[in-house]
Amino acid sequence: MGDEEKFDAIIVGAGPAGAACAYILAREGKSVLVIERGDTAGSKNVTGGRLYTYALELVESGLHKEAVLERKVVREQIMMLGEKTGVTIDYFDADLARTEMPQSYTVLRAPFDEWFAGKAEEKGAMIATGILVNDLIIKDDKVVGVKAGEDEMYADVVIAADGLNSFMAQKAGLKKDWTSHEVGVGVKEIINLPANIIQERFNVGADEGAARAILGQTNGVQGGGFLYTNKDSISLGIVLSPAALAQQKKKIADIYQDFKMHPAIYQMIGDGTTSEYSAHLVPENGWNSVPKQLYRDGFLIVGDAAGFCVNTGTMIRGIDLAIVSGVAAAQAVLGAKSRQEVGPSYVRELHELQLIPTMKLFAGWPEITSISRMTKQYPEMMNEMMKFMFTVDGKLPEKMPSAMKKIMEKHISLGQLIADGWKGFRAI
Ligand SMILES: Cc1cc2nc3c(=O)[nH]c(=O)nc-3n(C[C@H](O)[C@H](O)[C@H](O)COP(=O)(O)OP(=O)(O)OC[C@H]3O[C@@H](n4cnc5c(N)ncnc54)[C@H](O)[C@@H]3O)c2cc1C
Repeated sequence: MGDEEKFDAIIVGAGPAGAACAYILAREGKSVLVIERGDTAGSKNVTGGRLYTYALELVESGLHKEAVLERKVVREQIMMLGEKTGVTIDYFDADLARTEMPQSYTVLRAPFDEWFAGKAEEKGAMIATGILVNDLIIKDDKVVGVKAGEDEMYADVVIAADGLNSFMAQKAGLKKDWTSHEVGVGVKEIINLPANIIQERFNVGADEGAARAILGQTNGVQGGGFLYTNKDSISLGIVLSPAALAQQKKKIADIYQDFKMHPAIYQMIGDGTTSEYSAHLVPENGWNSVPKQLYRDGFLIVGDAAGFCVNTGTMIRGIDLAIVSGVAAAQAVLGAKSRQEVGPSYVRELHELQLIPTMKLFAGWPEITSISRMTKQYPEMMNEMMKFMFTVDGKLPEKMPSAMKKIMEKHISLGQLIADGWKGFRAI
């Protein structure tokens, strides 16, 4: 290839990390090629469904106003399921409802990713879809381009935004394959329901929505569920540990089906029709699984490819961190005075944009989400306590302290409670 056919940057993957990076580089006049294996950007992508807005504002001020988003989240909910019962903590914040820039929105990835890649294209990036990149071109220890089948494409820098199973990061020798303890396997369904029914069921206004983390009723398998209200659909799913799944017989699809049919869940989705069913892996080990080296000469890794995802059990942040890392990569490419400076300046940007400090802050959380009793004993105990408190049947109830003690002892010992509390305290 001649010099004129060489790009300033090639980005592999048109998810949020790749699109954010392409948008900024193209806007600043760089020649950018984004290669996406899906027929359209977003067609291969799965998410629970919430995006924290600040990340889009880092790309361009005001960008969230034109983004293809669903409902602004005004209710943050945590639900614990018993066998047939459910306890929900419902946090409503009027500020979330009214502010100029709502903190977060529910999101559907297929339309959002297509919109975001389209915006990068408007700025001048070239988006090539339906093409699988299958190798890197490395010369004199420098990454100088990529291969897609017989085609070779060259650039000053290759940015791997190819998601969790990043073959590019592996080819570059920066990352090993994931182990089953580092990821969660997610299944997700989009269930269509009329907007007015969603608003009634979740007690939200016309453009408002709820985000719900759900614990319990996953057949005792470590993990949890999620529910997000979109404009006229609900995103419902579970994310479970593959290592814990392997230790029992039930398939994840059957566990999901039981979860979905739980009376407290079904109440929210009843009369809906399924429009999409998908599965995907999620990075679950936070900072502990981020590669020590995030670049090599001519090569950077961003988003899920670098393991930039935080899951606290009540909140999952992957899309915003993917966008922030895309921004950091673009700023590094734009600001570096030499090829050698790009990598170190990318890491500096990740610090300055608070991505690495955030990952480090949450580094202990996988310890908490891996407490096995969080998925069964604690939610069931909470439900039984509620049942005791709200049962009035004409019989003389037992005294509260002794009833609570009995319920607790049925599920966990005092020793386990102290051990879990100490583990949680140390992890945070
Ligand atoms: C079930 C589930 C629920 C989640 N819930 C949330 C949530 O509510 N909020 C949140 O913030 N995060 C959530 N996440 C995490 C979030 O989805 C990811 O962190 C985020 O999508 C990462 O973005 P990315 O751009 O790095 O990678 P991806 O979105 O995975 O994009 C990678 C892109 O690269 C393309 N690609 C891959 N390999 C190649 C190749 N060789 N050649 C060409 N193209 C390639 C893919 O097709 C894809 O388009 C969830 C994830 C899952 C699975």
